[in-house]
Amino acid sequence: MMLIVPEALIADLVTAEDAFAAVEATFAAMARGEAYNFPVVREALGGDRQYGFKSGLDRAGGMLGVKAGGYFPGNLARGMTNHQSTVYLFDPETGRPTAMVGGNLLTALRTAAASAVSIDRLARRDARVLGMVGAGHQAAYQLRAAARVRKFEKVIGWNYHADMLPKLGAVAAELGLPFEAVSLDRMIEADVIVTITSSPAASLLDGHVSAGTHLACMGTDTKGKQEVAPALLARARVFTDEVAQSVTIGEAQHAIAEGLIRAEDITPIGAVIAGMAEGRQSNDQITLFDGTGVGLQDLAVAGAAVRRAEARGLGVSVTI
Ligand code: NAD
Repeated sequence: MMLIVPEALIADLVTAEDAFAAVEATFAAMARGEAYNFPVVREALGGDRQYGFKSGLDRAGGMLGVKAGGYFPGNLARGMTNHQSTVYLFDPETGRPTAMVGGNLLTALRTAAASAVSIDRLARRDARVLGMVGAGHQAAYQLRAAARVRKFEKVIGWNYHADMLPKLGAVAAELGLPFEAVSLDRMIEADVIVTITSSPAASLLDGHVSAGTHLACMGTDTKGKQEVAPALLARARVFTDEVAQSVTIGEAQHAIAEGLIRAEDITPIGAVIAGMAEGRQSNDQITLFDGTGVGLQDLAVAGAAVRRAEARGLGVSVTI
């Protein structure tokens, strides 16, 4: 039997807490060598449409699967979201399909969970000011997930398109946090900075970040995107979800190309979670998490959705 869990059910099935636990366990399994991602396929379909497949195997979690998804800029005009994705799960022993799960909300939840895991593990315990660079679709999820792991007292935000900031301010208000739209140089006041933009060039520069800050750089997931100055990676202790992606399609691609850091300088966050590597080493150290987004994150949250749906008798079972 295969269970279909439609997109419309996900919001009631998977919480930010579920996503956090699933993603944290997956990163640790990757570090222990129990789980690995298969090579990513990403193709330009023409007319700015992109499509790709992110897949992997988690032996510990008993998960095999793929997220098929892409970007279709014409969708908004048709009343649909531009990003469309679906996760397919298979039995790792037999290869039989076990589930098909709507992947749009799950993508936002798993991406926000990754940065929250990094903040939880790497930010100073006394972090009080959260800086947000970016105010698009993902930014709201990022802000909510970050607020779960530290007692922030204030949120400051910058966005290239300033008119998008009030929407992010409303999310802060929903969390009971004061929000201030600021210039980039005011990011020096932040203890944690989340970057979540589709920028092709660095917004956040070395001088915008003070000692002891944790940066979660979440927007760069493709060659050619860039959110922060390479000098910041040279100054920071750098962590990532997967080193192979970090140096090719992540934020580190630029610092690597400029010879400022080497792949060996980058620590998988899973190694910190699994107790195999040190995290933050001092209160003055800048820590930077390069979140590139791996297929195993998608499988982990889809698995959580399936278990919840099964427990509640939701979804549609089909024989195939
Ligand atoms: P969105 O289209 O809703 O928002 C885009 C954001 O980028 C906005 O804040 C916009 O103002 C900003 N921006 C656009 N052009 C810019 C420029 N030239 N300079 C600076 N900022 C600019 O997108 P979203 O869904 O919020 O996604 C944001 C980014 O996160 C995208 O690059 C997306 O591919 C990436 N993403 C990463 C992961 C991951 O796992 N790491 C997962 C999902 C999405």
